[in-house]
Amino acid sequence: MPEGDTIYRAARALQKAIGGKVVTGFDTGLAKLARVNDDAPLVGRTVEKVESRGKWCLIFFSGDLILVTHMLMSGSWHLYRTGEKWWMGRDRMRVVVRTASWEAVGFNIPVAEFHTSRSLERSSQVPKLGPDILSDEFTVEGGAARLAAYGRENPDAEIAVVLLNQRVLAGLGNVYKSEVAFAAGVNPFRAMRTITSREMETMVEVSQRYMKANVVDGAGDGIVTYSGNRRTTHSSNREERLWVYGRQGQECRRCGATVMMRKQGVQARSTYWCPECQPWVGELPAPIGRATVVRRGKIGC
Ligand SMILES: [Zn+2]
Repeated sequence: MPEGDTIYRAARALQKAIGGKVVTGFDTGLAKLARVNDDAPLVGRTVEKVESRGKWCLIFFSGDLILVTHMLMSGSWHLYRTGEKWWMGRDRMRVVVRTASWEAVGFNIPVAEFHTSRSLERSSQVPKLGPDILSDEFTVEGGAARLAAYGRENPDAEIAVVLLNQRVLAGLGNVYKSEVAFAAGVNPFRAMRTITSREMETMVEVSQRYMKANVVDGAGDGIVTYSGNRRTTHSSNREERLWVYGRQGQECRRCGATVMMRKQGVQARSTYWCPECQPWVGELPAPIGRATVVRRGKIGC
């Protein structure tokens, strides 16, 4: 699944190319979109803005029409100069938005719908996203408060599953999930009720820092969170630029212990962690009149 910063970059590139421009052509292979276009043509509208919300890409057209797309595993937006040859076959084209000098082509996009601002607000399909980590308004305090509020309602939820939940915080994907938990020294399987405010703040701060660092223009398509020893990181291999993600069975870059991996959550997403740097913190219910017992130990493999 594309990470939030991939969608962010795609939305930013679209904004730069077609933002503020008048639509000169619109094609789609999706009947539902075609019907809307027949009734309320796209041609002649202006692209007001393109924005990402977590993993959703929203293209706002004048006259209160919003094209909402989600890439899931397979979809992608491409930008071509008018007349330029596409990199993928026409049979995979789902949506084309043309302006005088650009064609924005959505290939293999599995989820694409038109909305008005009201229907978007009411839509249950397009989730109400949590605050976008990459937005200008996002603050560490606000993000940490969001995590804390969710934790109070879902005390048994595992932190790494929560980090992936776009309704809590929008933008983090599966790679960042493991990297952020490592950077904060938090075992990814810990229940929300065991996570301290300080740890939440650290995870949010690291999330924002990593994601901002990775949306710099020309940063390549991989994610970089580890930039320590240059002798071991000159490789462009993605896994050599990360702390734990994809490094199962290898030495932890910080302590030398063996990095572990386990499938986590109902979606069985791979979670990587160092059992030494991210010790298990379990918490037993405190019997009345006695102190809370905090048990420390490692999660077995
Ligand atoms: Zn370690």
